[in-house]
Amino acid sequence: MKVAFFDTKPYDIPSFDRYGKEQGITFKYFETKLNEDTVDLANGYDAVCAFVNDTVDATVIDRLVAMNIRVLALRCAGFNNVDMKYAYGKIHVLRVPAYSPYAVAEHAMALLLTSIRRIHKAYIRSRDFNFSLSGLTGFDLYGKTVGVIGTGRIGRVFIDICRGFGMKVLAYDKFPAKGLDNGDTIKYVELDELFANSDIISLHCPLTDETYHTIDEVSLDKCKKGVVILNTSRGALVDASALLEGIKSRKVGAACLDVYEEESDLFFEDNSGHIMEDDVLARLISMPNVIVTSHQAFLTEEALENIAETTVENLVGFFEKGQCPNELCYRCGGTEDCKDGKCF
Ligand code: NAD
Repeated sequence: MKVAFFDTKPYDIPSFDRYGKEQGITFKYFETKLNEDTVDLANGYDAVCAFVNDTVDATVIDRLVAMNIRVLALRCAGFNNVDMKYAYGKIHVLRVPAYSPYAVAEHAMALLLTSIRRIHKAYIRSRDFNFSLSGLTGFDLYGKTVGVIGTGRIGRVFIDICRGFGMKVLAYDKFPAKGLDNGDTIKYVELDELFANSDIISLHCPLTDETYHTIDEVSLDKCKKGVVILNTSRGALVDASALLEGIKSRKVGAACLDVYEEESDLFFEDNSGHIMEDDVLARLISMPNVIVTSHQAFLTEEALENIAETTVENLVGFFEKGQCPNELCYRCGGTEDCKDGKCF
């Protein structure tokens, strides 16, 4: 089997080569992202493998079908970059629903601790032998309330980590997890209650029409002054301009972003020699209380291994048995009343 692999980075290749070789799959690694300008590179391949910032819209789907390619193997969990409604009946979309929830949840906590204990500032200072502590005062996480939006795999690991710090948890999910609410330290509440009472808000839900701009001017208005916003999920869950205004007005105490709504042309690439055209991102990055990482929460050795192993299993399963447990719902693609990519 020959698979066209888009948006390749050097760290993808060793594990995909190893698992592919074991199963007789040859990957052709293209550095370019998949979009309507590059889709024709897939001509002659049996399937396409794509990542978070590849664009799989109607035009790309039509081209793939015209080239007789019926399988798209996403090597990620989220699928907001695929037009699933249009894909219905045309192309099968496989994904890696879980590869390491620990990788993402631990990165979220790493960002939070870095931000509120000013580690990013202290690191730079001490490299310059500046051992002054002025301006580095943080706050204890113990006893604080964290609002967790989305209590799936990653959200629940993040809750466990927060509980280890002695934090209280207010949770919100469209489909609450059974047995998680203990009526005391972990409680499911409505979004407005979560906004009003959380010191820190962490996003762990998928990006859908419903969750688009969950954090915006209106929701920020309902939050506590000094709230810390943590987004390791998908950029467009947060209205970046509203967040910037919240930072400027001091309503938002800090923001930690591993994702950004306009990240697709910027993240994963070295833009250090270029003029930054995105004024909102440039202004956010200039703030002392904003930390941005470049969609790296998934990037652990364990996650890379699991991503390659599951993607290869998905392809082999689909081509040999004609079905794959990790195929996304063919009907609504998780956009409606759909849990784990399967309609009820
Ligand atoms: P998951 O499917 O296990 O959990 C998502 C949860 O969100 C589910 O419990 C679901 O019921 C809930 N949800 C769905 N719609 C909702 C809504 N309208 N409001 C509130 N909650 C809603 O997924 P996961 O593995 O925990 O991943 C969560 C998200 O993390 C993914 O969607 C992806 O966007 C993001 N992610 C980011 C990275 C990264 O590197 N930064 C890596 C992996 C995943």
